[in-house]
Amino acid sequence: MAMADNLVDEWVGHNLLTTDPALLASLQAAAPQAVAPLAAYGAELGSAETAQLARDANRHGPVLRQLDARGRRIDAVDFHPAWHALLAMYRRQGLVADVFATDTPGRWTQFAAGCYLHGQVEAGSLCPATMTQAAIPVLARQPELFAPLRDRFFSREHDARDVPLADKPSIWVGMGMTEKQGGSDLRRVTTTAVEQSDGSFRLTGHKWFFSAPTSDAHLVLARTDAGPTCFWLPRYTPDGARNAVQVMRLKDKLGNRSNASSEVEFHGAWAQRVGDEGRGIPTLIEMAGYTRLNCVIGSAALLRAGLVQALHNARERMAFGRVLAEQPLMQTVLVDLALESEAAMRLMLRLAQGFEHAEPAWQRLMTPAAKLWVCKRAVECSGEAMELLGGNGYVEDGVLARLYREAPVNSIWEGSGNVMALDVLRAIAREPEVALALLDEFAASVDAPVRTEALALKTLLAGDPAALEAQARRVVQGLVLCAQGVLMRRQSSIAAADAFIATRFGGDGRLVGTRAVPQAARLLDDALAL
Ligand SMILES: Cc1cc2nc3c(=O)[nH]c(=O)nc-3n(C[C@H](O)[C@H](O)[C@H](O)COP(=O)(O)OP(=O)(O)OC[C@H]3O[C@@H](n4cnc5c(N)ncnc54)[C@H](O)[C@@H]3O)c2cc1C
Repeated sequence: MAMADNLVDEWVGHNLLTTDPALLASLQAAAPQAVAPLAAYGAELGSAETAQLARDANRHGPVLRQLDARGRRIDAVDFHPAWHALLAMYRRQGLVADVFATDTPGRWTQFAAGCYLHGQVEAGSLCPATMTQAAIPVLARQPELFAPLRDRFFSREHDARDVPLADKPSIWVGMGMTEKQGGSDLRRVTTTAVEQSDGSFRLTGHKWFFSAPTSDAHLVLARTDAGPTCFWLPRYTPDGARNAVQVMRLKDKLGNRSNASSEVEFHGAWAQRVGDEGRGIPTLIEMAGYTRLNCVIGSAALLRAGLVQALHNARERMAFGRVLAEQPLMQTVLVDLALESEAAMRLMLRLAQGFEHAEPAWQRLMTPAAKLWVCKRAVECSGEAMELLGGNGYVEDGVLARLYREAPVNSIWEGSGNVMALDVLRAIAREPEVALALLDEFAASVDAPVRTEALALKTLLAGDPAALEAQARRVVQGLVLCAQGVLMRRQSSIAAADAFIATRFGGDGRLVGTRAVPQAARLLDDALAL
């Protein structure tokens, strides 16, 4: 039988950085020192070997072993070696902790770009890395706790052994807040913490979602007489015994399958207090600022990964006598995905800059807004990208199905969409002058649709505060689109900025690819360099 033709292999074996002209140019401008290391990392990540690691880590997910061969409780989790290889790659780049280890200008841009490249290949490994990174600023305020851990946080080594921290060169940290009765309203936490005569605490209760359960420690929320309080809960107690944390079950998840998420019970588990008693929620919300940024980066990565596969396939696959990428309707859809991807990437880099310079408008207002928006856009666009590969997109042989299953988690954890929208309103109420200054910046845009939207938001915010809550998503949408419109106009090609503004502010409905844009073929050439 003759070989079938018109078969397009997955896009693999390319450098993820040098094939992304927009990202490369942004890095050259904001963090030139990052170009060489990230170009090397982009090549490593883009290789067929790394694609195989990602496939293996997700195909052969973690398995819980509660008991050893003789029935002793061990609560171990077995991972495929590919999982550890992926964690080691990420850690080796300094992406876990370098933002806090140095004060090099552009370090947050470098981090965001590196995390973005990694997330295009494997998303699950970003979970423990994100939580570990976010723990640093919180712990650093408690020197007696942080000093002995400092070098382990900043280490570029990955140590997969399940042994006491004192014997390890590096550390992984998780977070445990969500209980059965709810994860959004943490004031209802039921786990209790009782102080011991030596100042340590014993925790009794449970967590319903507890990712990376074999991390060296978790920051958890438990209740003392003073209210919800944050605790440092190591996997081993200081005397080297396994802590009284029982892993009941691993979650059987839609996606994010390489990463272990679990349900746990605390049976008098040893813990140390972090921050003031009764102030656990603000402490963990501070961490969530960082993890939410990483959700934006992870979802921007999914947008890019889907676009790239769809575009590559369309450039080579024929239907009705012509290459798909040359057909007008396909171009309209692909351009829409390319614009979404580029705008998400630019927003993510702007947020990262906001973290570097501690800008309230970008850290406290735009980060939750972007978390809601970009994560949701990734859910929709990963479905579109999958569809652009036809049936081949839907089967598990390729990466599109994995991207699609992965997309919703960023939208749910670390605050689901509505919680993010309410957080944006809270940030506006707390610092109205910050919000107004940002809206004034948007209202000075050279693009009339952006100006109009910014002014509409100002009017909305000046209205009845009681009526605002029900419209919180409307506020978020307006803020993000204005921000992306301004960033695209400042940083992108004229054609891409024109197309973004025409399609995002035109009120054309909710389907991807409803508005044809001029120079579509050129925009697609710009999106993925050959
Ligand atoms: C794969 C995965 C891993 C996870 N890992 C962890 C982990 O390691 N540690 C951890 O602590 N948690 C973890 N979570 C839990 C996650 O953070 C919670 O699921 C999330 O915060 C939502 O909490 P909930 O599931 O209890 O939903 P609920 O709190 O019951 O909320 C349900 C819905 O109601 C909405 N809602 C809530 N309040 C309002 C309101 N006032 N107005 C309008 N809408 C509202 C929410 O947006 C949500 O959509 C993980 C979740 C997943 C899926």
